[in-house]
Amino acid sequence: MLTASLVLQGLNHLGIAVRDIAAARPFYEDVLGAVYDGEEVVEEQKVRVAFFHLRGDSTNVRYELLEPTSPDSPIAKFLEKRGPGLHHTAYTVDDVAAALAAAEAAGLRLIDREPRRGAHGAEIAFLHPASTGGMLIELCRPAPESRS
Ligand code: ZN
Repeated sequence: MLTASLVLQGLNHLGIAVRDIAAARPFYEDVLGAVYDGEEVVEEQKVRVAFFHLRGDSTNVRYELLEPTSPDSPIAKFLEKRGPGLHHTAYTVDDVAAALAAAEAAGLRLIDREPRRGAHGAEIAFLHPASTGGMLIELCRPAPESRS
């Protein structure tokens, strides 16, 4: 029984696991026509992430390609088990800690009990797919300077 609302403000990005960002780029840029926004390494999660957006997409939903930087990265384990593909969906929230509390109150299983740092200085936290019908959900509060 759901007793609390997470108050998701919108889809923020689609997280997609890849073995090699450089090898995946032509598909996103040349085939889908997406624009490359740059990449960064998130040490805490042992991943390199690259962002892309679609021209003319007023919703600002982005693709986040995730490449493991170490064999013990969670993304390396995901690739080993499932192969490349959709890894998570991320939703914008105003307050990650409050959204986690609401998720817990609704009976969802938390992967992160507290917000942690994601790419671009965002605050993020994950909900366990076992309690969401199989979908790994990221709650995301973008850093102030990257909000639009
Ligand atoms: Zn993400």
